[in-house]
Amino acid sequence: MRKITKEVAEKIAELAGRPVLTDDNGDIVLKGHRFVMMGVKYFPYGLGGADSLRPVLYQLGERIGEEFYKRYADLAGDKSMALEMVFGMAVYQGFGTFEIMDEQKDKIVIRFHNSFEVASYKANTDKESDTPVCHLTRGILGGIYSTYFGKRISVKETSCAAMGKQDFCEFEVEVPKE
Ligand SMILES: [Zn+2]
Repeated sequence: MRKITKEVAEKIAELAGRPVLTDDNGDIVLKGHRFVMMGVKYFPYGLGGADSLRPVLYQLGERIGEEFYKRYADLAGDKSMALEMVFGMAVYQGFGTFEIMDEQKDKIVIRFHNSFEVASYKANTDKESDTPVCHLTRGILGGIYSTYFGKRISVKETSCAAMGKQDFCEFEVEVPKE
């Protein structure tokens, strides 16, 4: 098991560069890309229910994950290091923290703590969800690992903290057959 926590994120942030909050133009810039801070109340689930946004968030996530991975693959020069940096930066950017639980032949199990999507869901409803809600994160993982493996793979969220049974989310990333 590998834990990607704040300590890992801090080290990776040193390598990747820290964001400037905020420069003279009112920009938040990290590695030449502009960011904007937005409360989790508004993004993503302030826009509507988790279910109605599912495909949009998944597709957006895939694009983010792909670009994110490619950016750090160029910087790291090594696939495993690139993965480590991508997860580190996600922690650094406030997504939550990750534990890579299990790397099996056919799947990788990732435990996700303190999901910002669960926080967003909870900020907009007082009900527990019947289904997982972390569609953007699932899409990002799909984009990261599809680019990593060089083949489009699927990611399932097998349990989600928004469903109230436990306080973490868990994803299964498909490992393609050789
Ligand atoms: Zn979740």
